[in-house]
Amino acid sequence: MSFQPLISHRYPNETLIYHGYLGCSPLYPSVAISIRTLATYRQYHQTCPQFSIQAQCKALCHLHNVGLLMCHNLYAYDVYLEILHHVDRRLNEVRKCNTPNWRILNACPCCSYKLDEEAPQVIDRLFSINGNNSLKRWASLTYGLTPRVDPRQARSDYWVDRVTVDKFKDTVRRSEDDWEDQVAKPVEPELTFNCTERWRNAGPEQRKKMFAVFDESGIFVATCWHRFVLLMCDMVRSGELAKYPLALMSQLLSVFGANASCAYDIGCAFSKTLGNSSLGPLAQSLNLRMMVGAFHGHAHNRRCQLDWHPMYIEGTGLTEGEGCEHVFSSSNELAQGTRHTSRFH
Ligand SMILES: [Zn+2]
Ligand SMILES: [Zn+2]
Repeated sequence: MSFQPLISHRYPNETLIYHGYLGCSPLYPSVAISIRTLATYRQYHQTCPQFSIQAQCKALCHLHNVGLLMCHNLYAYDVYLEILHHVDRRLNEVRKCNTPNWRILNACPCCSYKLDEEAPQVIDRLFSINGNNSLKRWASLTYGLTPRVDPRQARSDYWVDRVTVDKFKDTVRRSEDDWEDQVAKPVEPELTFNCTERWRNAGPEQRKKMFAVFDESGIFVATCWHRFVLLMCDMVRSGELAKYPLALMSQLLSVFGANASCAYDIGCAFSKTLGNSSLGPLAQSLNLRMMVGAFHGHAHNRRCQLDWHPMYIEGTGLTEGEGCEHVFSSSNELAQGTRHTSRFH
């Protein structure tokens, strides 16, 4: 069966939607699915990410006693999401919510709302970053299959694309070299600041391997203090390389400006990488404060905690700096649905 890409300018097309039903092929549909069914599935999927579109298709097949609804339903759901995307886009235009970085600046009311004459805070914006390996996707080549061509790109401003991420690839290598030199220096045992050696994520780039059978090997996200997702990117055929946090950090620093603070499970070691990267001067001029979240911080040694644990950093209040973990506890539920999807999905 050949797959035609859905072409957005084909709808809203009077041949596609009649009486609240969405035709399942662009020109001569023989099957139609009600908008209400698609809207219901979307909400089921948001509240129960394990409930995949394939499971929904099978349920519909049983209900109607047919066995061929799989592709129809997938297409119809794609078109439905496309329609919602355009509705959102037009609404955002009217509401003037489409300016650059609007979502990062306004996603969280607690972070972004300023009172008149509010006293300046020691830390103006507090966010956390981290990677997670649950949302992997198998490379089709693993099965000897040719990957299905799907030219669609993610259009959400959540995503930092691969090209932008890779701009930080080379700036990292130089800093990693410096870093290894520092680790190799002999030091007093009780003064050893050994997080770099203890944590795989903090180690040199060449040690951060990932199984070659996966194309995307996970996600790297930035969340605000209150667990709103600010940015994310795919980790591609690799472990948690420094280019991922650097790419996100670059955008966040330029948006948030001075006096931001960032928690990262290897914040102690990463601050050195950041300082040696092309972002180093900017981070320093904006007074960025790195820290290690409270949950991860207790696995670092005592000397590290004194410098990097939020408990000892003024302005952190009661935050534990682990917003990403809260996001992952939800995104992990999506994992079984991403293994065999197309890159776009
Ligand atoms: Zn540490
Ligand atoms: Zn917030």
